[in-house]
Amino acid sequence: MNIEAYHKIVKELESYNAKLCAVSKTKPVEDLKMLQKEGQKVFGENKAQEMTAKFEELGDDDYSWHMIGHMQRNKVKYIAPYVDLIHGVDSLRLFKQIEKEGRKAERKLKVLIQMHIAEEDSKFGFDRKELEELLNSDAFVDAEHVQVCGLMGMATFTEDEKQIGREFASISGLYEELKKNTFKDSDSFNELSIGMSGDYKIALDHGSTMVRIGSKIFGPRN
Ligand SMILES: *Cc1c(COP(=O)(O)O)cnc(C)c1O
Repeated sequence: MNIEAYHKIVKELESYNAKLCAVSKTKPVEDLKMLQKEGQKVFGENKAQEMTAKFEELGDDDYSWHMIGHMQRNKVKYIAPYVDLIHGVDSLRLFKQIEKEGRKAERKLKVLIQMHIAEEDSKFGFDRKELEELLNSDAFVDAEHVQVCGLMGMATFTEDEKQIGREFASISGLYEELKKNTFKDSDSFNELSIGMSGDYKIALDHGSTMVRIGSKIFGPRN
């Protein structure tokens, strides 16, 4: 746990008007409590079970819960009652499941659409053609319990900053395009979730509104 690094990041983000999702996956609730006392509210987890256990212990008054990882459809029901933002909607089937569970929970669930931006092909997400299909689908047009709040992406895990920059530029361009067209009447399409411990500075220079940082704050994970 590096409180000093946390405050430094918060300060950096201020000048970009960007938010921090503190990625607390695998870390004990004591770590989350410690950071919450420093002023952090938004926490990111990538497993429904782990996030739910932490939510049950810490509640959602002082904590806002973001699901950041790839989500299995049968897990949506566990988080639907309390989750604040689902970052990684990466298929039409998952979108439909979120609509269904949002209806049951009598909530409008906020989501980001995950775009596949990495030049390496190991990451989840839509390509542009699949996105087009999603946006034109009845499920999307008729959705009442899902609110699309923006895009999310993960760059290739590489030292090559030019490549990372290209990948962030592509999702940032798409985000601006959607904001002007498909989502021009939406006042909720406002988030571009890009940037992690190793590449958040590049992400901020490409218009990130929310970075997801774990190890730089909480230390390495096992
Ligand atoms: C784990 C994870 C992060 C945070 O990674 P760090 O490199 O530890 O900052 C961000 N986004 C997603 C989707 C993750 O799974």
